[in-house]
Amino acid sequence: MKYLSTRAVATDSIERKRFCEILLEGLAPDGGLYLPEHYPQVDDATLLKWRSVYHDQGYAALAFEVLSLYIDDIPATDLKAICDKTYTEAVFGSKEIVPLKKLEVASTDAAQTTLYLEALSNGPTLAFKDMAMQLLGNLFEYELARRGEELNILGATSGDTGSAAEYAMRGKKGVRVFMTSPFGRMSPFQQAQMFSLMDENIHNIAVDGVFDDCQDLVKAVSNDLDFKRKYKIGTVNSINWARLMAQVVYYFAGYFQATQANTEKVSFTVPSGNFGNVCAGHVARMMGLPIDKLVVATNENDVLDEFLRTGVYRVRGSADTHETSSPSMDISKASNFERFVFDLLNRDGARVNVLFGDTLAKEGRFDLRADPAFSQAATRYGFESGKSTHADRLATIQATFEHFGVMIDTHTADGVKVAHEHLQPGVPMIVLETALPIKFAATIVEALGREPDRPARFEGIEALPKRVTRMTADVDAVKAYIVQHCQ
Ligand SMILES: *Cc1c(COP(=O)(O)O)cnc(C)c1O
Repeated sequence: MKYLSTRAVATDSIERKRFCEILLEGLAPDGGLYLPEHYPQVDDATLLKWRSVYHDQGYAALAFEVLSLYIDDIPATDLKAICDKTYTEAVFGSKEIVPLKKLEVASTDAAQTTLYLEALSNGPTLAFKDMAMQLLGNLFEYELARRGEELNILGATSGDTGSAAEYAMRGKKGVRVFMTSPFGRMSPFQQAQMFSLMDENIHNIAVDGVFDDCQDLVKAVSNDLDFKRKYKIGTVNSINWARLMAQVVYYFAGYFQATQANTEKVSFTVPSGNFGNVCAGHVARMMGLPIDKLVVATNENDVLDEFLRTGVYRVRGSADTHETSSPSMDISKASNFERFVFDLLNRDGARVNVLFGDTLAKEGRFDLRADPAFSQAATRYGFESGKSTHADRLATIQATFEHFGVMIDTHTADGVKVAHEHLQPGVPMIVLETALPIKFAATIVEALGREPDRPARFEGIEALPKRVTRMTADVDAVKAYIVQHCQ
């Protein structure tokens, strides 16, 4: 399997790379995102086999089957060991790893429709990002050891990504993490999760500023190519193909739990920000998983919903980016969206290059309304969308708790709200649960008048000693800190 950039021009001379080459890279050199040259096709016999692999041997074995189609430069025994080590009941809390919870059965005249939650948030940091990041940590450690190299991961987080990265990389050989976050802006639980880590290879930097300031610092350091090379600076952001690939697996696992036979279809609703999670659903569907609809749920930051409704992709300035109660979806542009547009435009890299590298930079938007490809987003690729507001989240959290005794977090609530608007008779709808309510306690209290449940291992976490360095938003200070802690 080879990988190409979404901005690659289709000539024979373009560079194609293997998995381990792109594993430690961020963007492609031309500014595009990596995708496999083709999507491996899963036929009926394979799907049948994978169904029993998941039920009989478990999630790690299923992950190995899926990943083997995308990774051919790690020996099979090693890849199997990495999957087995990553997806354990001890780390993810259940034998199923991503168990389905039946929420309700909505009766229509024609048939019944079951709504499920797929639990993706029982990993170390209680958000779905653990599903991919835990694998990435083990892949990084493996590949760095093989090369005899080191990596210093520099990141910016508003909460979930940073903690998922730190819990995945803690104690790993050859990797250090330098994670910037906006001082005082994460929820107390999120701060406690990150800052209580005492591992020597984990460094928290609280920046006086907002999330954008943190992101600017990371960009400024990465743009200093000499510094980047000398100090082996890398990233773990959501455009990394390995993260997306890891997420493909749970679409299969969700399908196998919701259906009895491969003739059945399901739909998924995915709370979306940077389009990484739902893009993995798109890949699963392209591989042949019988997915009917992929419903994109946004909050007030509705860049994606707007595109899917109108054909106009319009990125927002930071002043137009709303701070909401589902903060992990507060994005001004969707960094993984380029991957889907590449497929939508029949993999015309030259055109993607113009749209994302030029039009978007100059005009802040592009318009595919008049393009026949646009209507295929729905007809050929199954995409639908909807949005949700703070009031919707409160109402959905209340209704779900009242009727089913299930407490959901604010992001998952965006998904459940939008899913209800897209139910189809006879097609089970699976909503991806992207975080547990304890991470966003203030809104749960607002909705339910009580504190969310807290997994026992997080009892008293806010009282633990904290390890964090506070800094002004100064590039030189960040660089100096990295240099000092790189020995
Ligand atoms: C990151 C995140 C999202 C958004 O996922 P994308 O892959 O960026 O679309 C949604 N919910 C939660 C809780 C998250 O942490």
